[in-house]
Amino acid sequence: MIRRIFNKVFGRKTRSASGAQVLAHAAHGIRRDQLDDCALKTCETLAQAGYKGYLVGGAVRDLLLGKTPKDFDVATDATPEEVRRLFRRSRIIGRRFQIVHVMCGRVTIEVTTFRSNEQKETDEVDERPTDEHGRLLTDNVFGSMADDAARRDFTINALYYDPSREEVHDYFDGVADCKKRVLRIIGDPETRFREDPVRMLRAARFAAKLDFHIDPDTRRPVATLAPLLANIPRARIFDEALKLLMSGHALRGVHQLRAEGLHHGMLPLLDTILDDPTGERFITAALKTTDARIAQDKPASPAFLFGTLLWPQVLQRWQALEAGGEKPQPALFMAMDEVLDAQRGQLAIPRRYDGMMKEIWALQPRFEQRGGQRPYRLLEHPRFRAAYDFLLLRAESGEIDAEMGEWWTRFQDVDDDERESMLKVDSAPKPRRRRKRKSPGESANDTPPA
Ligand code: ATP
Ligand code: MG
Repeated sequence: MIRRIFNKVFGRKTRSASGAQVLAHAAHGIRRDQLDDCALKTCETLAQAGYKGYLVGGAVRDLLLGKTPKDFDVATDATPEEVRRLFRRSRIIGRRFQIVHVMCGRVTIEVTTFRSNEQKETDEVDERPTDEHGRLLTDNVFGSMADDAARRDFTINALYYDPSREEVHDYFDGVADCKKRVLRIIGDPETRFREDPVRMLRAARFAAKLDFHIDPDTRRPVATLAPLLANIPRARIFDEALKLLMSGHALRGVHQLRAEGLHHGMLPLLDTILDDPTGERFITAALKTTDARIAQDKPASPAFLFGTLLWPQVLQRWQALEAGGEKPQPALFMAMDEVLDAQRGQLAIPRRYDGMMKEIWALQPRFEQRGGQRPYRLLEHPRFRAAYDFLLLRAESGEIDAEMGEWWTRFQDVDDDERESMLKVDSAPKPRRRRKRKSPGESANDTPPA
């Protein structure tokens, strides 16, 4: 008891029986009241029932760094069934890798039983089951807290916070790495990246999000192992891409990916985009806007974001098809379909985003029509706002005249009289009656009314 008070006051470290350093409040500064109520209650209920119940992973790391965690995960020595029985509002998720969702109001806490990477059931086989590249094929064996720490990816993600004692259990000097702002993988880097190549993408994401430096030993094998991402299911890669792009640090993340040579396996289109000055300006503007929105807690739409990533390709195909004699609108629609088809093999953006991406793209030529009733009709379009934001990015990157973006910004702001005065002479063709002969001045290339 006296030792505990001493440790609490002076922030001393002790070592637990399992080999972790146990850091008192003064050494880490995380207070119990910084936890979400539901997370706290979950840990307390587990503890009252005689189990361990610690906050783990990203939440501990973020609290240590003075950031607000986006979700709270709890690790325990209780089995999923035992957890399930303790919480009235809870359910077991998953078959192979079971976790328990504990719900309080609208908050859900993910409770995971300590796991081990070691294969304990098959005594004769002392090798862990991996594929021919070293990829780990099972991760569903229960283990001790120390085993659980060792199977986690980075030292800063293997910290356990015990709210009842306000202590952090640190197995791999994660607190020190946090202070040094170093991202270090646990164990032998090559083995750990082979076990799960997605950890390479996570390294790039965390380095960008936290503004951490990747430890040189952790970084070294990445260039050689990056091609292993080809063996990962596309849906998992897509989830990681989304996390990176929605991290609030997408711009830095994308550059980090490219610097590590990891984009081939995740966003192969980055090469073509970033090598072209307009494309680079466009993507930079798009990612900056997304990062700014997330910083302000505004919603950022994945469809909008993927729409921007694919736009440089759509634009290129659109222009090529038009140069080949296609009319603008059909050329744009052909370009959209071609690009969406081609990316499915690479990044696998789920089809549910297609509709919105296409709408945003298809509205772009309509911003050119600034006469008659057309601008008013465009304002009423349900996707006007997203399409207008997209237009501003095109203007910012120099793809179109800045004047066009400014015109549309003003048109939304001013009153009816002023709007009327802003209208341009309608150069687009009026809806024509059938069989009407073309007047001599009319251009065959005008965009048909959409
Ligand atoms: P974020 O703030 O992005 O949610 P996080 O660290 O909480 O960061 P999650 O993907 O939510 O990341 O994972 C929770 C924890 O699970 C991690 O902190 C890490 O300890 C462990 N983990 C997740 N993915 C892996 C992996 N591929 N290999 C090893 N451990 C992992
Ligand atoms: Mg998390």
